[in-house]
Amino acid sequence: MRTLKQFTDEINKCVLCGTCRSVCPTFGVVNREPASARGKVALCGAFLNKEIGLSDGFIKQMNECVQCMACRTACPNDVNVPDIILAARAKIAKEKGLPFAKSFILKNILDSERLMPTAMKFASKLQGLLFKGVPEESGLHRRFSLPLIDERRLVPPLADRFFLEEQRARGKGEIASALPRNDITPNPELRTLNSKPRVGFFAGCLINYMLPNIGEASLKVLEKAGASVIIPYDQHCCGMPALGMGDVETAKSLVIKNLEAFEQYDMDYITTACATCGDGLKRRFKELLSDEGEDVRKRVERFAGKVRDITELLVNELRIQNSEFNRKSKIVNSKSEIVTYHDPCHLRRGQGIADVPREIIEISGAKLKEMSHPCRCCGLGGTFNITNYDFSMAINRDKAEDIKNTGADIVATACPGCIIQMKDGLHQLGADTKVVHVVELLASHLTSPLRGED
Ligand code: SF4
Ligand code: SF4
Repeated sequence: MRTLKQFTDEINKCVLCGTCRSVCPTFGVVNREPASARGKVALCGAFLNKEIGLSDGFIKQMNECVQCMACRTACPNDVNVPDIILAARAKIAKEKGLPFAKSFILKNILDSERLMPTAMKFASKLQGLLFKGVPEESGLHRRFSLPLIDERRLVPPLADRFFLEEQRARGKGEIASALPRNDITPNPELRTLNSKPRVGFFAGCLINYMLPNIGEASLKVLEKAGASVIIPYDQHCCGMPALGMGDVETAKSLVIKNLEAFEQYDMDYITTACATCGDGLKRRFKELLSDEGEDVRKRVERFAGKVRDITELLVNELRIQNSEFNRKSKIVNSKSEIVTYHDPCHLRRGQGIADVPREIIEISGAKLKEMSHPCRCCGLGGTFNITNYDFSMAINRDKAEDIKNTGADIVATACPGCIIQMKDGLHQLGADTKVVHVVELLASHLTSPLRGED
């Protein structure tokens, strides 16, 4: 991964044209130069020229970025502002250290195979005491004053049973992995499994601990689309939260652990239903480990080459549009729901995927109605929404308005983080639009009776 100093030439490419200011959501809220992409590049340049130090003001500006990548897409000179900001955060973490709470969580809990599930299980048991349910909604509000959690924040409840725990209990995903590729087994059921594309499923923390329903929907849809799904149980957090906070060492450690977990199996693809994890697994971690020696580089290249977002896997590789699955879904079309779509930043700008999630909405039988600015950031920005809740929700307000103005019954997206953030924003706006993942749309038509066929 490049250091801030290694970005010097890139910083010098900035001609201060200001194109990035018009798309930067933090500038949109604050309307002051240091909050803009251009302003942050100028601050990094001034730091490298020793005109300023790692002051509180500098650290604040580097932390107030949601990593939406809109500036990078807009910049005519190809200045990679989000990566410059990440390099600045890594420099800050190295020189100043992270605040105790963040450092403790990253190094002792997130990076621990035992402590992370235990801590989350403990929190899951405790949540009934600390939070109360919001009537009619799948969220919680806090009962007491709690550090880091704003009283207006709609918090998704932790699952009673985590996704990976549930799959392990069911033995799900183990049969396919036990079969050698060339096994000529007399068992016809196993022979069928062996002939299918092998897909490793990466859950990610939000699906594992809070939204296992998205994981369940993913498995259902993947199996229906003809995949043989493998779930390595000892997978970890993808490392993106650590990277976003500047803790490069913890991020690297998590990437290596995930490589080890997935390398045990013979897989054609690795997929995830989380746009942020996918961006990390496919692209970011190659950069992160680029200076770790030939062997690690080759391993991470091989791993990254297999990664597909679940939407592109379903449409481009498993070709669901030509399958039985699609034929049945089309029958639902006559009484279709109106669905609008939000482009997650890490899917559209991070991975260049915009069309296939929309195709999935149509395959599901729903009618797509575009909102204005579908790729406007929802304001989540990793831990930014926790440390800067008001700021984060001020960015979200336009998104929630755009969704409400479509009059759609449902807003679909392809990132669990965006789902949590949009639920909160719509709740605060008093809108009752349902928020779902696109794979849930497909899965819901698999479970409910198909209209026209009963
Ligand atoms: S990544 Fe987004 S929030 Fe950060 S500087 Fe660029 S446009 Fe602004
Ligand atoms: S768009 Fe690019 S060149 Fe223009 S001000 Fe922003 S970073 Fe600099």
